[in-house]
Order: sequence, then structure tokens, then C-alpha cells
Amino acid sequence: MIDLRSDTVTRPSAAMRQAMAQAEVGDDVWGDDPTVQQLETLVATMLGKPAALFVSSGTQSNLIALLCHCQRGDEYLVGQDAHTYKYEGGGAAVLGSIQPQPLPVSMDGTIALDLISAAIKPDDVHFARTRLLCLENTIYGRVLPLAYMQAATQLARAHGLATHLDGARIFNAAVKLGVEARLIAEPFDTVSVCLSKGLGAPVGSVLCGSAALIRQARRWRKMLGGGMRQAGIIAAAGIYALQHNVERLAEDHANAALLASELRAVKAVSIDPAWVQTNMVFMMPTAGTAEALTAFLRSRGILVDPGTTIRMVTHLDVSRADVLAAAAAIRDFYSA
Ligand SMILES: *Cc1c(COP(=O)(O)O)cnc(C)c1O
Repeated sequence: MIDLRSDTVTRPSAAMRQAMAQAEVGDDVWGDDPTVQQLETLVATMLGKPAALFVSSGTQSNLIALLCHCQRGDEYLVGQDAHTYKYEGGGAAVLGSIQPQPLPVSMDGTIALDLISAAIKPDDVHFARTRLLCLENTIYGRVLPLAYMQAATQLARAHGLATHLDGARIFNAAVKLGVEARLIAEPFDTVSVCLSKGLGAPVGSVLCGSAALIRQARRWRKMLGGGMRQAGIIAAAGIYALQHNVERLAEDHANAALLASELRAVKAVSIDPAWVQTNMVFMMPTAGTAEALTAFLRSRGILVDPGTTIRMVTHLDVSRADVLAAAAAIRDFYSA
């Protein structure tokens, strides 16, 4: 199978499994797991933050960040299509009594600064208290410009808001921009990063921030049922991923660009190559053909994320040859 549905489908390599098998472990709820501590120190250093917390998933990481930044009756500003608003089951509202204020996301993944300004509520009993700006990078495979992140966080701070980055794929953004990830993380109070996407680890995310905030985050993690015992087994996979799989994200980006360029020759599908910046390709097939195309691809052993816009994601279990095979299959479907 050539699985292009998501970069979450990667399987741990033999070398990664070896690292997991050999991990030194302890009870992390007691603070005894040296491998978890090593991972937390590594990620905090890579993202230039004082402290970090290993958590079970990106959803849990973002939720904990929101719970740390916002109290009951507070509000966070967030993209209408952002993961922290749309794809996390409404956790902030359900579990934190935190109100989202969703804002439209532009084609380039940014939220217009004037929309952010206009959404910040004055101190008035009618309104929720606006407390936090939440951005996502990459968002739909698009990289937010450094200058935009500087300006947006500056605006937030000028209004007394905290800032959180859902950096599930921050290393894709860093590799694309050719900068250290800490430069992207720098203007934010907290940053969440996923180990289980393109980095290729089986489980886990890390939340980074100040020592005081991470102490609070540790309490929330326990309350949410996310205190894990001999978690060094999975933390070892994260360490391995960060040591071996960051620079190679460039191969995924090259494969996504190749896929997009191969598909430009196929008249029946439309792709805007300007938006293929990292490891995701969004393809709009001719109306009425998406379902049959998806089924045809499946019959050829190719899995895609279906819909009226089809998403294809490159990752470390997808080769250049796989991408060419996928493009050929799409060509075949329309020429048959
Ligand atoms: C995958 C993802 C998450 C959540 O991660 P899970 O581990 O699936 O809970 C958060 N934000 C973004 C942008 C993601 O892509």
C-alpha cells in the first residue's frame, strides 16, 4: 500500500524499535523516567524554551496549553480551520469552559491582523475575557512567514494576550524556511509539537513553555488521565525521531512538490502549486469524479484522504517512486 492519507500513518523503523527496546525507564508520574526527562530536555532545547512536558497526543498538548492560559469564561482567538478549534472535539469549551473566537484563515494560512485586533474584546461585562491568541504552523501544509508571526504575537502582547503555537509540524516549517525551529517558537509563550507525524514516532507530543507554566501543565496532564508510567519506551522513539528524522523532512517536501508538478499535466484535476510548500498536496478533481477516483486509487493500492478536495501527504514511508506511481494512477484514471 502507498498510504498518502496522513503523515500519522508512519510505522516505527527497526532502528527506532531498537531504541525503544533499550530505553532506560522509570515511573514518570513519580518523575523517575530518565528517558522521558531526556526527551523533554531535548525538545525544550530545540525550541528554545525553559521547560517541556511529554504528553500522549497533540490534542492533549493543545488542550493543556489552553487550560494553562485560560480560566473559565476566558476566550481564545483561533483560526476557523485550525486544529485547536475544529478538530479537537471542542475540548477547550467542554473541559475548560473556555470560549473559542474563531476567525477566518487566509489562503496563506495567516489570520489577518485587523481581524485579530477587531476580535479582542474590551473589558466589559457583556464579553468573555480575551486571553489568548492561538496560531498553527504549518497549517494545511503552508508555512506562516516569520514576519507575520512576529507581528501577530506583538499585537497580542500589546493587548495583554498570551500566545500559543500549535506547532504539530513546526519542524516541517523550520526545514522549509531553512531556520532553526527555535526561531519559529521564539515569539510564543507555549509551543506544542507532534512526534507522531512526519517525524515518524508512534505516539506522543511535547508542550514547551516557561517552567511555571509547565509545572501547571503537569497537574492538568495528570487530571486529564495523561500521566504515563514507564513512558520512556515511547519517549525513546521521540528522541530517535528528533535525532534522525528532522532534516529528512526535506525529502517529503520534494516528493510533495514532485507529485504536484506531475499532476499539473492532468487537466481533470486542479492544484495550486503555490500552496504546496511542505508535505501536503490538495487536489481538486473535476466535479463528480472524486469518489470514483478514490476507489480506483484504492484498487491500485493507493490510499488518499477523500473528499471533494483530496489530500495527499508525503512522509517517511512514501518514496519518490511511490509518488510517481500515485501520479501515474491518477493519470490512468482520467485517460481510461
Ligand atoms: C495532528 C495534529 C494535532 C493533534 O495531534 P493528535 O496527536 O492527533 O491529537 C494538532 N494540531 C495539528 C495541526 C495536527 O496536525
